[in-house]
Amino acid sequence: MIIIPIKLSSIKLNPNYNKFGNYKVLDKIETRFKYEGKPLDWITKAIENDFNNKYNLNEFLVTQYGIINNDEIACEGVIHNPHNIPKQFFTKGFKIETDNRHFSIPYWENQQYFFKYTKVKLKCFGCNTLVNIYNIINIDSFNKCPECESLDSFVDYKYEKIEDALKRKENKK
Ligand SMILES: [Zn+2]
Repeated sequence: MIIIPIKLSSIKLNPNYNKFGNYKVLDKIETRFKYEGKPLDWITKAIENDFNNKYNLNEFLVTQYGIINNDEIACEGVIHNPHNIPKQFFTKGFKIETDNRHFSIPYWENQQYFFKYTKVKLKCFGCNTLVNIYNIINIDSFNKCPECESLDSFVDYKYEKIEDALKRKENKK
């Protein structure tokens, strides 16, 4: 059994330990559009809630609409699935804006230290390749060589615990 040591110089105290933190989670990406120009058939249909129109409210939601000149309109709204819409719909006069909206989930920060392990390569007994331990595939209680797919073909190893690394660091002083 060998122990993969923590790199002592990498140990850092987590400044937020034992405090509430916030995870930022992507809510959804909203795509809005603005259009100024000649009335377009599909916009008119979307406004009229024409459900026979393929590009109806399922794809667009027109939130504002007005006539700016005798023959031109201004409108804005939301596009639900921009990737579903053929390119030719986005004619001259279109402006697209997107917005990544996030919301926060509070969580209790309980990791006291950040640290990294020393980069270690282990030799596979199956193919004799030196494999970086980060590349060894872990499956339940087995591990698998990424080169030859042998199972458990490495010397037994485990990762050093942070408590032990802190003791080592203390003894070095
Ligand atoms: Zn191997």
